[in-house]
Amino acid sequence: MAKVRVRFAPSPTGYLHVGGARTVLFNWLFARNQGGDLVLRLEDTDTDRTVVDAAERIMESLRWLGIDWDEGPDVGGPYGPYRQSERREFYREHSKRLLEEGLAYECYCTPEELAKERELAKREGRPAGYSGKCRNLTKTERERLKTLGRRPALRLCVPSVGETVVEDLIRGSVSFENAEIGDFIIVKSDGMPAYNFACVVDDVLMKMTHIIRGDEHLSNTPRQIMIYRALGYELPQFAHVPMILAPDRTKLSKRHGAVSVEEFRDAGFLPEAILNYIALLGWSPQDGEEFMTKDEMVKKFSLQRVSSTPAIYDITKLGWMNGCYIRQKPTEELLNLTVPFLKDAGLVDDEFVRDRKTWLSEVIESVRDRVRTLAEVPDATSFFFAGDFVYDEAGVKKYFEKPDVLSILTRGRSSLENLESWDAQSIETTYRKVAADLGIKGGDLIHPTRLALTGRTAGPGLFVIMSLLGKAEVLKRLDRAIGWIQNKGTGRTPLVP
Ligand code: GLU
Repeated sequence: MAKVRVRFAPSPTGYLHVGGARTVLFNWLFARNQGGDLVLRLEDTDTDRTVVDAAERIMESLRWLGIDWDEGPDVGGPYGPYRQSERREFYREHSKRLLEEGLAYECYCTPEELAKERELAKREGRPAGYSGKCRNLTKTERERLKTLGRRPALRLCVPSVGETVVEDLIRGSVSFENAEIGDFIIVKSDGMPAYNFACVVDDVLMKMTHIIRGDEHLSNTPRQIMIYRALGYELPQFAHVPMILAPDRTKLSKRHGAVSVEEFRDAGFLPEAILNYIALLGWSPQDGEEFMTKDEMVKKFSLQRVSSTPAIYDITKLGWMNGCYIRQKPTEELLNLTVPFLKDAGLVDDEFVRDRKTWLSEVIESVRDRVRTLAEVPDATSFFFAGDFVYDEAGVKKYFEKPDVLSILTRGRSSLENLESWDAQSIETTYRKVAADLGIKGGDLIHPTRLALTGRTAGPGLFVIMSLLGKAEVLKRLDRAIGWIQNKGTGRTPLVP
């Protein structure tokens, strides 16, 4: 059997979005599972839509996701070039052949004429495909139209009856009426190949065995099959992966939140969580396991288990999965991944990271179970870096306005002042003893202390926070809170006991 060869063929018109990422992932998983090759091909013949930098950004996103390719515009390969804009010679050769063999013809119709034709067909209830008007132009007629300055497009001769059947590995047999298709353009009047034509020529010359792509291309496939047949080439296998819908079952778009891989990266998602999540958009392994490393996914992947019904994109589940991956990260790696987010938030700089690496690691450790994305770390840890926060309003009502709070906090403070060994365990023992001595519940001391030290009512374990803040800082923050309560938050100079 021929070696499996698949491709990802993005048009460089924007970012790599969820749909594209899922397409490339399925191609990659299939190639790696089958010991085949993945080719990256840039479909950049539509110069009006091509965006500067888009190709580089798409490749950057792929690298960040950890998806590699065996051949492509950057790494080259035996079937290059891998940019369609550099392959015009191949398209010219093939279209010339079809023209010479009478399987394609020149069409001189103007866009206005075509629009009129479509309108008429619509009114008369006929299929909207091209009427075939230019199919039988004589040489003299063609010459005359040329002298009028018209430049011909090239159309493929499509049978007006019968149907074309797409045998799809995921969708099964799907039939299309040829009459609905009509003679379609394979080379535009500006000499550029149309998508369907360039795609087939390249897929053949690049020796593709399987075409795995989004469902939205299914309607192109009968046209492509006609081109393969006209050129006398063998068909590859087709596999159209199901659409991705938003939770409201409409087409996924910007208004549903982050959809590009770059946005996910900037929002603090980990590539392994994204890969794992999007692999499950339309595919599931036989054993039903949801958490998989890349290697496990490669081992388990098969096109047979790709569903033909739309997949629903659920950002909440992605966030949850990302949180699970954050919890598994080794400490040092998590630190390195988080530092850029802390820097962006202005909480640390390079010097700080260098000098207080261990402390910073422990701070991040303390919140790792509480965040779903790396971008949540700065907010979750900000109180470690500065003590001038505003106390949570609901917390103030609940804890700072209790009658005994001042004496409780003051007792807590003095017990810490004399504490020699400043570690979470010793602090806890001391603090719990204070509560016992006062005959109150641990929470009666712990909750106001947390509010005093962090400004919040929830967060990492209090004794871990205290050990990380250090004794001097803890005492300072308790003093600030005691003063604040004495002045009822009026901002007057606090009376420090
Ligand atoms: N350039 C097309 C796209 O970005 C590729 C379609 C295909 O895979 O054939 O949608």
